[in-house]
Amino acid sequence: MPLLTESVSQLIDHLARLPGIGKKSAERLAYHLLRVPKADALALADAIRSVKENVRYCDDCFNLAEGPKCTICLDPKRDRRLLCIVEQPRDLIALEQAATYPGLYHVLLGRIAPLEGIGPDQLTLERLAQRVRQGAFEELILATNPTVEGDGTALYITNMLADTNIPFTRLARGITPGSVLEFANKEILADALAGWQKV
Ligand SMILES: [Zn+2]
Repeated sequence: MPLLTESVSQLIDHLARLPGIGKKSAERLAYHLLRVPKADALALADAIRSVKENVRYCDDCFNLAEGPKCTICLDPKRDRRLLCIVEQPRDLIALEQAATYPGLYHVLLGRIAPLEGIGPDQLTLERLAQRVRQGAFEELILATNPTVEGDGTALYITNMLADTNIPFTRLARGITPGSVLEFANKEILADALAGWQKV
């Protein structure tokens, strides 16, 4: 005889598929959701539904957006001469929280990782090349992670756009090689971006 009801086992199975959540944590979360008021639990369900139905990638920079363009691309106060290239939307968020960079972004949605079978075609490099060639950028900031793959991706972009003669800056100062941008602390990111501090 099964000890759990069908619904409870299903919830545990789904929770256990989340990254970093093992079977025990999934059980704890499921029992927590059974205990909290119905409205709180359904608010979580609604939030999940809402991101899946409403969130998409920005047409220009591939940041998360709830329309064709993200709030950064739509912001008229952003400096359209600076373009900072990052791997993932979460890297962009880490840099924004460091709160000193006034320019635009381009999110690659990954990095070149030959060992995992991820090549340049699977990233947003074509759109990047198009933006850089059509835009008025005066400086490109390579903020891919300081890992072997991140460095390789930065090098690939430098070569791809070498003929534009737009200067590149590698954002790596102060960030330990191998550390991941997402987890670098705010002070270090702020320092790394100090060259673009608003005056
Ligand atoms: Zn955007």
